[in-house]
Amino acid sequence: MTQAIPIDWQNIQTVFLDMDGTLLDLHFDNHFWLEHMPKRYAEKHSITVEQASKELSQKTKSIEGSLDWYCLDYWEKTLDMDIVGLKHEVAERIAIRANVIEFLEHLSAMNKRVVLLTNAHHKTIKLKFGYAEIEHHFDTIITAHDVGLAKEEDGFWQALEKIEDFDKTDSLFIDDNLAVLNTADTYGVKHLLAIHQPDSQQAIKDTGKFTAIECYTQLMTVA
Ligand SMILES: [Mg+2]
Repeated sequence: MTQAIPIDWQNIQTVFLDMDGTLLDLHFDNHFWLEHMPKRYAEKHSITVEQASKELSQKTKSIEGSLDWYCLDYWEKTLDMDIVGLKHEVAERIAIRANVIEFLEHLSAMNKRVVLLTNAHHKTIKLKFGYAEIEHHFDTIITAHDVGLAKEEDGFWQALEKIEDFDKTDSLFIDDNLAVLNTADTYGVKHLLAIHQPDSQQAIKDTGKFTAIECYTQLMTVA
């Protein structure tokens, strides 16, 4: 049994939710980038999968955490590969985490504003929504590509203020990325939660000072 996480729902108006690793299992993304892409890249260049992994990680390392890193157009151009098509090949691994739909319905029943706030590219969001029926649960969908900065970058939340009307003192933000949570914390988002195990096939994560959700039922005890 997981313990309830006390949430001051009365004083929360807006709930910002990350997508990958938070609402959806991060296993798909890790599998895609660490296994499927190296395999296809190796085939394209007639090199070993090991060599392909090495080359891909070199290409990603220098821009990690930037908007380009999350940009499908950037990768399609840089690698000259149909990333969307390749993602479809392993799309059966796209999965909604346990009790997420119930949690989203719970938020709606409490009349909270529910905002999907993701670094994912529009094309990735569209692809995921084709396999995970979740889109209609959000009041609005905002990607970092609309904001112009990745969520972990300084200035992200100030830029977000220009396109979404919210108050940081009555907002809850859930994300599996600690750099992203730290940026939100520095800006002053009052309620922050991390994710205990973003990838169902990987080890649990040390989330430091942030309380981590093991199961969404932990947030659904009292309305
Ligand atoms: Mg995430």
